[in-house]
Order: sequence, then C-alpha cells, then structure tokens
Amino acid sequence: MFFLGGGSNVLFTSDFDGLVLHSGIKTLEVLVRTEKEVTVKAGAGVVWDDLVQWCVDNGFGGLENLSDIPGTVGASPVQNIGAYGTEAAECIVAVHYVDYETGLAYSLSKAECAFGYRDSVFKHALAGKAIITSVDFVLNLHPQFRLDYGDVNRAVEALGGASLVNVRKAITGIRRSKLPDISELGNAGSFFTNPVVQPEMYAQLQTIWPDVPSYSSGDRVKVPAGWLIDRCGLKGFVMGNAAVHKNQALVLVNLGGATAAEIVELARYVIQTVFEKTGITLVPEVNVVGSEKI
Ligand SMILES: Cc1cc2nc3c(=O)[nH]c(=O)nc-3n(C[C@H](O)[C@H](O)[C@H](O)COP(=O)(O)OP(=O)(O)OC[C@H]3O[C@@H](n4cnc5c(N)ncnc54)[C@H](O)[C@@H]3O)c2cc1C
Repeated sequence: MFFLGGGSNVLFTSDFDGLVLHSGIKTLEVLVRTEKEVTVKAGAGVVWDDLVQWCVDNGFGGLENLSDIPGTVGASPVQNIGAYGTEAAECIVAVHYVDYETGLAYSLSKAECAFGYRDSVFKHALAGKAIITSVDFVLNLHPQFRLDYGDVNRAVEALGGASLVNVRKAITGIRRSKLPDISELGNAGSFFTNPVVQPEMYAQLQTIWPDVPSYSSGDRVKVPAGWLIDRCGLKGFVMGNAAVHKNQALVLVNLGGATAAEIVELARYVIQTVFEKTGITLVPEVNVVGSEKI
C-alpha cells in the first residue's frame, strides 16, 4: 500500500506494484473557539494552501508562513512541513489516522507524533501503516508574526506592515521568485534535507568556507544544503534531462522527459560531490518509491 497525497514530495522510480490510496476527505471545521484561539480540524484531502488561505481569510494565525507549499493536509504531519522559520508541528495538536492493517481509528497527540526537523513518527514506526484522515490545528486569534527569516520582514514592510494577509502575500511572492513553477518545470521542492552537524564538523566546514551560513539546532548546527551544493559548483548543473535548478541549488528539476533513473543519477552525483568536498552526506527529503533507491 502506498498513500499518495498531491505527489509533490514523491519520486517514483518504477511502477508501483500495489494499492495506491488517495484521500478525498475535504472537511474543514472549527471545533473550539475561545477568546484567544481556535481549534480547527482539516481533512487529509484538503489542499494545504487552501487551508492556509482559509485561515488567513478568517483571521486565524499560525500557518501563514507556510503559504504556497504544495500538497495536502494529510501529508503535512508526515515530514512536519516547514518554511520561513515555522513548522506545521507548532500548530498541530492532534493527528487522526486509520491503521491500514486493522482498520481501527486512532488519534495521536502532538507529543506522540514525535515531530522533529522534517520528521515524525509517520516516517518511522507508523510508516506505511497509518492512513492519516484529518489533522487538528490550534490557531491564534491574536497572531504573533514570525518575520525574522530571510527577506520576509522587508517584503512585509513593502506591503504596508505585518498582517496575516501581508505575510501570506510576502511569502508567496518570495517563494514564486525563487522556486521553479511545478506546472512548468517538474520538481519535488527541496530534494535534500539540510544537514544537522556536530559543532566540530561545522568548524571544519568554516576552514573550507569561512562564510558558511548556519542555524542553531539544539546542541548541533544546521547548514543549508542548497548553499553547500552551490559552493560545490553544482548550481545549474545539467545531467541528461535532469538538472540542479539554476536559481535554487536545493531543487532538482526535470528539464523535460527526464527518466527517474536520470533524476536518481543526478541526486547520487550531487551527494557524492558534496561528500568529497565536505565529508557531509546529504540525505534526500523526497520520498523515493520503487525498485531503484538513491
Ligand atoms: C515546489 C515545491 C516546494 C516545496 N516547498 C516545501 C517547503 O517549503 N517546505 C516543506 O516542508 N516541503 C516543501 N515541499 C514538499 C511538499 O510540498 C511537502 O512534503 C508536502 O507535504 C507534500 O504533500 P503531498 O500531499 O504532495 O504529499 P505526497 O508527496 O503525495 O506524499 C508525501 C509523503 O507523505 C505520505 N502521505 C501523504 N498523505 C498521507 C496521508 N493522508 N496519510 C499517510 N501518509 C501520507 C506519502 O506516503 C509520502 O510518504 C515542496 C514541494 C515542491 C514541489
């Protein structure tokens, strides 16, 4: 069995010999409303960005930094989607699923979901077992804006200051200026996760590139994978019909007619090149399904 949402984070490397399920649960409801916040239940089949738009339209804060991420609500807890300093896990309070083998329904609290950076229990103990049916989010009626990431603050100021509408507009604008349009150039977003390394490894990287950027991640250091790929000279690198995107080195693109084998070969080449230069092994964020693995 394979559960397919919007397919925006999946690379099929061969036909899938099994059952593919896709959620049609499109419900969206407010469960509880207090003076401060609302709890919202969203069906797994709701398009993620429709949920964000609905929240912004209703004055519910928390998801606006996650504007314009392709895919469905059901996939959002799986890799704990994140962007511009925010992660879905910050607003998720419960995830409801059906066990594929028993048909029984369960609900997990946020703690039970074991969220981490692009990670959750749905990628480990419950991988291939849990069919997520809906997700509950707690959203703030008095939003606290997160503008301290990249160009967000400047873009929001240019629109007239912080509001849910302006943050959504700013982030959507920034993303569209940086990321290739999936309707024109096939891609799965960030192909690799950002490596989280020990401080000693980061210090070693600084000996190669003193300007290597970093974000703290507990007692370790997160390094932007796209920056490493770029510094290894691979931005815009073309291999057959597959390429490292010319503006965003973290995204591998199908230039037209690329086979899965070509994408896999390019991904391996990127991993090998970055490893040889830095000693860091990049890990794919994309879910690779089929006989060929990266
Ligand atoms: C242009 C572009 C930009 C992107 N930007 C970001 C970004 O900024 N941040 C980010 O985190 N991601 C980003 N992504 C990745 C992608 O949008 C997310 O991973 C998204 O959550 C995938 O949703 P989907 O419905 O397409 O899931 P799919 O790609 O169909 O599936 C992803 C995984 O979730 C599982 N899954 C899906 N639905 C369910 C369900 N109901 N129950 C159980 N398992 C399920 C699948 O089996 C698979 O393992 C980007 C992708 C693209 C193409």
